[in-house]
Amino acid sequence: MTFIPISQPSITQKEISYVTDAIKSGWVSSLGKYIDIFEKKFAKYCGTKYALATSNCTTALHLTLVSLGVESNDEVIIPDFTFVATANAVKYTGAKPVIVDICEDTLCIDPQAVETAITSNTKAIIPVHMYGHPADMNEINRIAKKYNLFVIEDAAEAHGAQVHDAKVGGLSDVGVFSFYGNKVITSGEGGMITTNNENLYIKMRHLRDHAMSKEKRYWHTEVGFNYRMTNLQAALGVAQFERIDELLLKKKEIYEWYKEELNDLNNIKMNFQKMNYLNIYWMICIEILGFTENQRDDLLMRLKNKGIDGRPFFYPLSDMPIYPTVDSPIAHKVFQRGINLPNYFDISKDQVVFICNTLKMEIANVI
Ligand SMILES: *Cc1c(COP(=O)(O)O)cnc(C)c1O
Repeated sequence: MTFIPISQPSITQKEISYVTDAIKSGWVSSLGKYIDIFEKKFAKYCGTKYALATSNCTTALHLTLVSLGVESNDEVIIPDFTFVATANAVKYTGAKPVIVDICEDTLCIDPQAVETAITSNTKAIIPVHMYGHPADMNEINRIAKKYNLFVIEDAAEAHGAQVHDAKVGGLSDVGVFSFYGNKVITSGEGGMITTNNENLYIKMRHLRDHAMSKEKRYWHTEVGFNYRMTNLQAALGVAQFERIDELLLKKKEIYEWYKEELNDLNNIKMNFQKMNYLNIYWMICIEILGFTENQRDDLLMRLKNKGIDGRPFFYPLSDMPIYPTVDSPIAHKVFQRGINLPNYFDISKDQVVFICNTLKMEIANVI
């Protein structure tokens, strides 16, 4: 039996030759041409003036929050349904993550819940573009303007996604992206920050590199970080970036294969695309309506026994002992019934058909 993994990167001769070029050049750490190329290309893609490469997206989030002046006693509003890094980065600053519910259709933060959660201590909002679908940025930007708050788009899962014709990462004050191995494009580990704010960009660049004085080498007036990306990572990132249209097109095609095969099931919900939004379908999302957490886990185990790797949706942050409990009925309903299925670049249509037939059979077997 062959095992179909949930994800695997697409590495071609281009990636191999760029990384080989970088290592042969001797610029193996964080100086070197690929960092500059990656940042310039990425900023242009997102329609922002600046982009700053980081060691990963978690450090990108932390660097952004610190540079915006977020500190103890501040509050930052985040969705209950996201990868834990969104919340952890807020914690690192000493600020309080204020967790709110999501919208059932897009799985992204609910703007109404955001507005309700605002206090005099609120400093920023982090909408997350879940599984490749943009959050409701028009509403969130309107609320942020009204209460004078920063907006940081967590676009770790949504490279190339759009609201109308504008790409995520350029829709608010700052955007952050991830290049982890299972993301839309990868640099092994890596992150990127996009912004139009020059002062913020200068501050972030300074803090990324130990906050070393420009005039006086090895002199520091602030506690900085080493959050740099290496030239080796950037070489892989640039090669992947040059293939981003091809990679996104394949995600869409694979989504259509799943949709066609699962069309006749009426008790499931697949990835949603709201009008005027462009979903890039980072992951295939299947929600089996009415499923409990135990049924979901049983289904994943049955799939695994047939050689198919699936993933459960993220648990609500507010269920974890490290974060406060909140009332978020949608996040609590959705996580129990949702799974992700394989959609990597090299998967074949036959494999998707096999996955869908097995899924139909095993949904019926779950008790
Ligand atoms: C993957 C991910 C991150 C963290 O990215 P790393 O590069 O692994 O640090 C942050 N937020 C979301 C929503 C993610 O999916």
